[in-house]
Amino acid sequence: MNDVRRVAGVAPDAPPAIEVTDVVCQFGRIRALAGISLRVMPGMVVGIVGPNGAGKTTLIDVICGLVRPSRGTVRVLGHAVAGNTSALRASIGVLPQETALYDEVTAWQNLRFSAALYGVAHADRRIAEVLELVGLSERARDVVRGFSGGMQRRVAIARALLHNPALLILDEPTVGVDVETRHQIWAHIRSLKTEGRTVVLTTNYLDEAEALCDRVAILRAGTLVAEDTPAALTARTGRCLELECWSEHATKLSVALQQHPGVLRAETVDFGLRVYVGIETNPEDIVGAARKLCPVEGFRTRSPDLVEVFRALTAGSQP
Ligand code: ATP
Repeated sequence: MNDVRRVAGVAPDAPPAIEVTDVVCQFGRIRALAGISLRVMPGMVVGIVGPNGAGKTTLIDVICGLVRPSRGTVRVLGHAVAGNTSALRASIGVLPQETALYDEVTAWQNLRFSAALYGVAHADRRIAEVLELVGLSERARDVVRGFSGGMQRRVAIARALLHNPALLILDEPTVGVDVETRHQIWAHIRSLKTEGRTVVLTTNYLDEAEALCDRVAILRAGTLVAEDTPAALTARTGRCLELECWSEHATKLSVALQQHPGVLRAETVDFGLRVYVGIETNPEDIVGAARKLCPVEGFRTRSPDLVEVFRALTAGSQP
């Protein structure tokens, strides 16, 4: 990922935070990653999205040194991951998919234990800071078993931040949390970015990627099918033109318009037809062509959202 924008708090000559080169990961007959190359510049928030089984968690495990790739190299914060895992652990904070807290003890005790493990200096002060950051100062002395799923997720984020890592890796940070907690977690992630940290997150929520990420990498069946800014990805999918017409005309219109220059895709919908039109094509030309074939009662154009981009780029993959 070659975004060279300057980020507050990041030296202009800093090496990529992550550099994955031609990584293959084979589990028996399953090729979880099939030659992935990816570059993440410091201070960026990068989203990895893809259908179930696309290889997101495997890619994260490879970056963290938890899984050794069958081929290829991984460098994190300028250092080769292979053989360097314990040194890198001090610079990476990881939120795994499973929250895995000790639920019989308090939030504070959970963090105290992790702080000891990481050798965090001035542990009590730092624990107070991270709990404040995730909005749980008031619940510090409560037993984790009584916390909601979202609160447990926030304790786990606090734990990932304890040793002040330059790189945060968050595997589905908002899975299973309510809308309010989700927005709180988004606010924490944005505040991490303003501090100049690099954040890599996986998500199945496309709106999350669109709201948070400077760049988005789309994985499908172990292959990187696209990586770019959300705006560039949506532009690549073209403009969305919605045509209102009778359903008995829509199918015929769909077949005809898909032959029309500048039309990328068309699909029938309950109000008529949705057509994706190349950025260089004037949608009104397509409306004109449609009107020669059947009555069109109305039309509107809009930008596609990331969900539509994702569907276009991962068409044909398993659900
Ligand atoms: P999800 O969205 O469901 O979490 P994912 O994109 O994170 O999926 P991975 O968990 O990376 O996908 O899995 C990619 C593929 O590799 C899957 O087919 C999975 O079954 C396989 N896989 C992952 N880890 C292992 C393993 N340790 N042994 C065997 N197969 C594995």
